[in-house]
Amino acid sequence: MAENLLNFDAQRLTEWFAEMGEKPFRARQVLRWVHKSGEADFDAMSDLALLLRGKLKLQACVQAPKVVREEVSADGTRKWLLDVGTGNAVETVFIPEIDRGTLCVSTQAGCALDCAFCSTGKQGFNRNLSTAEIIGQLWWANREIGRNADGNWPVTNVVMMGMGEPLLNFDNTVSALHLMLDDNAYGLSRRRVTVSTSGIVPAMDRLRDECPVALAVSLHAPNDTLRDMLVPVNRKYPLRELMAACQRYLEKAPRDFVTFEYVMLEGVNDSEKNARELLALVSNVPCKFNLIPFNPFPQTSFKRSSSDTVHRFRDVLMQAGIVTTTRKVRGDDIAAACGQLAGQVQDKTRRVHRLAEVRV
Ligand code: SAH
Ligand code: SF4
Repeated sequence: MAENLLNFDAQRLTEWFAEMGEKPFRARQVLRWVHKSGEADFDAMSDLALLLRGKLKLQACVQAPKVVREEVSADGTRKWLLDVGTGNAVETVFIPEIDRGTLCVSTQAGCALDCAFCSTGKQGFNRNLSTAEIIGQLWWANREIGRNADGNWPVTNVVMMGMGEPLLNFDNTVSALHLMLDDNAYGLSRRRVTVSTSGIVPAMDRLRDECPVALAVSLHAPNDTLRDMLVPVNRKYPLRELMAACQRYLEKAPRDFVTFEYVMLEGVNDSEKNARELLALVSNVPCKFNLIPFNPFPQTSFKRSSSDTVHRFRDVLMQAGIVTTTRKVRGDDIAAACGQLAGQVQDKTRRVHRLAEVRV
């Protein structure tokens, strides 16, 4: 079967070329064609020897997941539903802003972690996406939107905040990250690529050692009792361990702070007392906060905190000197906002106990 070259980062592509008796610089050329030029047709790779082009046509392909639906929001946000086979589909979201274009990438079909407020989590888990399926989202989005007037690709930032927990699909996520950072591929700076995690502590350490990029941690609660309910993986990696992992991460991170994401759930985690408790929790971790208005989806009983409540909460953090932003809701008219991505997932987990949604 033909190898999908989107599965290979530079190192793996070089190895594969060596197995074919080809030199490393050839692999580099092909990498540039595929990712820098967005080319899928080997015949168009004009600086490759004809013989090599012939070999590649027989043994390789460049194939991103198939797009089955596109939706465009009134605010310009675009969402694509990608078919990843066997009844599964995942979503990718492009968020245009004046000075940048951010692509929100999925890493798994579904998610096993079952956070109480997350639409993806409610669907269960099917499988990890391959490297080709992850990087294919970027490859495809760039080609689909097309280069800017200045000749650059439109995606300038990537956030792994789509469907799934990136650090539970570690190897494929890291290969995709390598390609995002590689100058022969997308050449994005480490500061413009963000991994968002619910707090898989050992994998945070591995990421720090193997491919440090900007880190966002989905915190959502100031104490273990509440976080155990909202983010069940907290029972395995409680807050004390998570805070220590954040500190270790910062030793090698491209940015000198961690971004804590905090979804504002009315009457659950949004009081001023909660905010003060947070201050104590993060006192030893240089950080910024990103408050996310809860985005509702069918079958949820959580409610979005009022903007007054969000302001009061933010003020407590800001007065303590913590930079706190409130995430703008983008694309909610097409269910493309944080936590609304649902795609289509054939659940393979048998959940005896689904967490009842908490109201405390
Ligand atoms: N699994 C990773 C990345 C994907 S989720 C993680 O949990 O970090 C991306 C962000 O959206 C996370 O911070 C997540 O907690 C948040 N989120 C999930 N459901 C949401 C919802 N319904 N409304 C707002 N944000 C949500
Ligand atoms: Fe998974 Fe993240 Fe959703 Fe939690 S918030 S269920 S970790 S995708």
